Amino acid sequence: MKKVTSIKTRITIWYTTLMFVLIVVVLSLVGGLSYQLSIDGIEKDVVLQVTQVTEKLSKMHRDVFELVDSKEEFKNVSIYEANGKYIVGQYIYDVANISFEEGLPRRESIDGKEYIVYDTKTPTPPGMRGGFWIRGVESVNSTMLLGRSAIIIMLILIPLILLLTALGGYYITKRAFRPVNNIIKTANSISAQKDISRRIEISPHSKEDELHHLSVTLNKMLDKIENLIMQEKQFTSDASHELRTPISVILAQGEYLLDIAEDEKEKELAQTIVDKAKQISKLVSRLLLLARIDQHRQKFNKEKVDLGVLIDIAVDSMRELSSQKEIFLFSNVSEGLMVDADETLLLSAITNLVSNGIKYGNKAGHVVISASECGDKTEIVVEDNGMGIAEEHIDKIWTRFYRVDDVRNDEYGSSGLGLAMVKSIVELHGGEITVKSTPGHGTQFRILL
Ligand code: ADP
Repeated sequence: MKKVTSIKTRITIWYTTLMFVLIVVVLSLVGGLSYQLSIDGIEKDVVLQVTQVTEKLSKMHRDVFELVDSKEEFKNVSIYEANGKYIVGQYIYDVANISFEEGLPRRESIDGKEYIVYDTKTPTPPGMRGGFWIRGVESVNSTMLLGRSAIIIMLILIPLILLLTALGGYYITKRAFRPVNNIIKTANSISAQKDISRRIEISPHSKEDELHHLSVTLNKMLDKIENLIMQEKQFTSDASHELRTPISVILAQGEYLLDIAEDEKEKELAQTIVDKAKQISKLVSRLLLLARIDQHRQKFNKEKVDLGVLIDIAVDSMRELSSQKEIFLFSNVSEGLMVDADETLLLSAITNLVSNGIKYGNKAGHVVISASECGDKTEIVVEDNGMGIAEEHIDKIWTRFYRVDDVRNDEYGSSGLGLAMVKSIVELHGGEITVKSTPGHGTQFRILL
């Protein structure tokens, strides 16, 4: 399965990483540069001091000891004889033993301590052999220590800064994405509850940014879709309504023709008119009921209904059809089982399921209707051992006008509206309906109210 990472998390990861890289690059540049600058400063200082002492020494008339007598301060400089013997100046034990080398200032590392060492040799004064070595020495340990402490502080500070950046950034992104969450919430509730009247919440204090405009645009689009759906429902409702009277007239006339038919041929023709008119009448009634439920205009008389009685009525109304197909009908209802429902609508839903069980049942098969308490709900199960429904059709049978097999259904005068109506009725009651079926073995519809 594809890993789901929210945009908020991705943005947070991105800029935290970017922040980390920036901090590391900037600190390395600044740290490295200031370290180099302070080392350069030390080197310059050492060279300057050595040069000053060398100049002074060149002006001395006697020799180096005059310099000693002058109580001159030797901060970082010491003077050695040409053979390396210490004469005067700042004596640093570690460095005293390093061999002299004329040239540029250099780094010497002795016992883990770092020094800048700069040597220079004076010309041989008159009456003496070899001249003098002037050595400038300055420790760089404090600079290195400072650098190291800065690194340690940074190692502690960087994660802290990153954590604060990530948390702060996540909070800001979450706030910025709040309208997106509202859009998702609304879209989910529209598809779960099939309530197209819902709209995306827009706070009056929200800033007029792109997401605000997106929410406003989506709300306008939902207004239009809702309008179209309403118009379509209104059309279905009006059309069904308008068809009812002419169909009743055709049915009445057909029945009259059947009564006065003089021969078999006329009877057959009249019977066809009556059958078809009944079929259309049933279809129109279903369409009208569905349109009314959709438009929330269906009258819903909730009352205490005795399920035992209701199921008996359903079974009785199906006796003729079941005996034609030699299907055994029986019910099993807990004594005194009551349910809050609209009696007419619930009866029509149960009758529909039973009639389907018979229509799609096998000769000498059975249809069982049972009802019982199931926790704080009531369960009604209609089960048959008929032809069943193949897996690929199961999800579609609730769709209006969906029929599994056109040829097979035509012989029963099917319209594909029965189950859509049952589902609408059950949902109007706040219940749910599920189906289980095995092709060749049978089907079970379960209503939970
Ligand atoms: P129809 O008017 O065609 O019966 P329904 O909405 O009642 O319409 O059913 C939709 C389809 O589901 C039917 O065409 C039928 O193929 C299938 N179906 C419904 N109930 C059963 C059942 N008990 N056994 C097998 N198939 C069924």
